[in-house]
Amino acid sequence: MKPYFGLARYDGNEPLFNLVEMSIISTLAGEPFHLHAEGLRGTGKTTIMRASRELLPKIKRIAGCIYNCDPKAPICPIHRNMSPEEIAALGTEEIDMPFLEISHSAKVGTVAGSIDLAKITNADNPQAALLPGIIPQAHRGIIFVDEINRLADTSPEITDILLDVMGNKPGRLQIEEAGLPTVEITVQVSVWAASNPDEDPGPLEEVRRQLSDRFDMVVFMGRPTSEDMIVKMLEGSDRAKRVYLDPKAYEAKNEEFRKQIVEMAHSYRNTELPDFLRNFIARIYIKHNLESIRAIEAIQQGAVLYSTLKKHKQIMINDVIEMLPLALKHRVEGDTLLKIMHGLESRTSRDSILNIKDRRSAKPVKEREEAIFDGGARRLKDIGRQEIIATEKALNPKDA
Ligand SMILES: [Zn+2]
Repeated sequence: MKPYFGLARYDGNEPLFNLVEMSIISTLAGEPFHLHAEGLRGTGKTTIMRASRELLPKIKRIAGCIYNCDPKAPICPIHRNMSPEEIAALGTEEIDMPFLEISHSAKVGTVAGSIDLAKITNADNPQAALLPGIIPQAHRGIIFVDEINRLADTSPEITDILLDVMGNKPGRLQIEEAGLPTVEITVQVSVWAASNPDEDPGPLEEVRRQLSDRFDMVVFMGRPTSEDMIVKMLEGSDRAKRVYLDPKAYEAKNEEFRKQIVEMAHSYRNTELPDFLRNFIARIYIKHNLESIRAIEAIQQGAVLYSTLKKHKQIMINDVIEMLPLALKHRVEGDTLLKIMHGLESRTSRDSILNIKDRRSAKPVKEREEAIFDGGARRLKDIGRQEIIATEKALNPKDA
């Protein structure tokens, strides 16, 4: 597998790199941030998500707790009722932030939890005799689901579990086993998913709208479109092959970034969205009848995370605008999103209410507009004069 920092970045995949890093920061800060990457095969969405495991920082848990109980906030059936003194007596240990995958063949018992057959014979506390599944074991970490649209189509029970886990922050999980009392625990996991909306059974929002809405951000992964970019990618993979021989070079980079993540998580915890930006989001919500409260919560969380990741001195309106398409693409009709983005552009160019004088403010909107012109279409300004005349001649051969 290619190292994370050895992967080529280009316009079409940059947002996913950002979101992945933002989600790790948020997860470490104790607030899940759910991502869904959509795109055709070969756009590298799962590669980026899986490669980011290298960046995951350490977390501290109660020694030996497979639910990853935070010593300051224990959640598992064994530790949640203990006094701070009893917890302190157990000691702590550091582990890598968990990153676990739910596969399509997974059963409810594997995902949520099941009876621990080894312990059940001598357990005086039946709750303690549960074997936590993938989700509780990923507490304070990340769960990855590839082809989430297919999972939603074929495994309604697992989909229901995800709906619960992603319903609130933190989420909740019920572990049910015949003959044992139902155990409910809170879990903090960020769910990352990938899918190809062009493949069976289609886009997630059409398969299971509710689950689609649970994702804070959805990013559509484009293919690199310029020759330059492909050339750069080829160069990158050449060089990466050589650096493979020296993984230390990448490990130093990862280590440096892990340190930064810890700092950024700390700063994220202490940063609030300024009131005027909150009003700005509220205005968009009312004006365009957005309906989904999750959408605007995601915009708020995303803007703070984005600003933290980009080390902006203060959160700017651009940080909010950058998040709008990511938080809204799966929640509103395409023309509503266009209307919102166009509205922002005309507002920013008029320097109105929000008093934006910086020309750069309008840039992200412009860039996104460009991105809409895909499928080989070019804007008039990018076509040479001779070519336009030639095209017109081809269309109207009589005038020639
Ligand atoms: Zn525990």
